[in-house]
Amino acid sequence: MSTELKIVDLEQNLDVEEIFNNRYVNPKKLNDFLVKNYKENLTLLGYSVCKKPIFKLSIGVGKKNILLWTQMHGNETTGTLSVLDLLKFLKNENKLAKEIFEKFTLDIVLMLNPDGSEIWTRRNIMNIDVNRDFLAEASPEIRILKNLVKEKIYDLAFNLHDQRTIYGVGTTNHSATLSFLSPSVSEDREITEIRKQSMGIIASIYKEITKILPNKIARYSDEFYPRSVGDNFQKLGIPTLLFEGGHYPNDYYRQKTRKYFTLALITALHSALKDKSTWKDNYKDYLEIPENSVSFYDIIYRNVALSEDVKNTVDIAIQYSEFIFPEEEDISFVAKIEEIGDLSFLYGHKEINAEGRRFYSENNKYPKINMEADFQLDEWVIVNGNKLESIV
Ligand SMILES: [Zn+2]
Repeated sequence: MSTELKIVDLEQNLDVEEIFNNRYVNPKKLNDFLVKNYKENLTLLGYSVCKKPIFKLSIGVGKKNILLWTQMHGNETTGTLSVLDLLKFLKNENKLAKEIFEKFTLDIVLMLNPDGSEIWTRRNIMNIDVNRDFLAEASPEIRILKNLVKEKIYDLAFNLHDQRTIYGVGTTNHSATLSFLSPSVSEDREITEIRKQSMGIIASIYKEITKILPNKIARYSDEFYPRSVGDNFQKLGIPTLLFEGGHYPNDYYRQKTRKYFTLALITALHSALKDKSTWKDNYKDYLEIPENSVSFYDIIYRNVALSEDVKNTVDIAIQYSEFIFPEEEDISFVAKIEEIGDLSFLYGHKEINAEGRRFYSENNKYPKINMEADFQLDEWVIVNGNKLESIV
């Protein structure tokens, strides 16, 4: 019998690695931290295009081997931050932490794409999407990851990502704070025995985390991506779980998401403590998880008038772009107009009813897709997407 999981207690007592309290993770800061605190656990695997080191951090003494990697997409740091919190959890004098340490060997690649991470881009420095490079192997980063599975047989793999704020849970007005996927291994999305194992573990995560994060967990599309890592690892016989950290209301720096993400990691490990033959037991419950949908914008202004002559109004949707500016410790958000028209079937994380106020802008007679969201709605002044409250 493995240790009981008490998710509410875990949530209340979970510590974060406070040295990393921004959403942005500087590669050098991360390396210095790992070398300082986990020197004996590190193996140098190779280098990125810009010659940044990429390490494997190994924790635990157990027989089950689990591979985890984060930030193959540079601007997706929640996995990295959560793994740092998981490492902190594993240092605890706690029964579950001890059992995880004794039963597993966790091989963790933190920040597979450090060049992209430094400048906050999804792709690597050569503009290759590392998660579409499994077959071509044009990036050194994918070769590093693939070499790992040539050296060792893994029982399980965790592929850790972030998703944009556009995702919601089914047709509801809840954002998808966490989404999961058991990737397909073929065009026909066949449910193989290996897939059943990762589906079963995801179903266990859903069952537990939904107790503390109701309505905000979804299942990512299982369309087959023949060039992606997860699909290919699962095809090679390694049960693979894709984690996607997403938006939680008013949490653009993803510190709440980070917490739920860490708890999902711990829950997944707890579930994998059981005998491997039982992992697939509840795989059918996976199919009951609501699907991820593209249903959100960051901000929607409803009922905006575009001209004096036309009575009918439109909605204007605004989406943030993320940047890391030189000398800044964390990312900045620049709001741009993303859509104009009838958005009645879509949601905004923030919605403002303009009640027929008319659009004005210095440079554009009408709102334009991709223009920065600085404009007026009659007496309202909108700066970087938000209404200035001081203007009456
Ligand atoms: Zn990603």
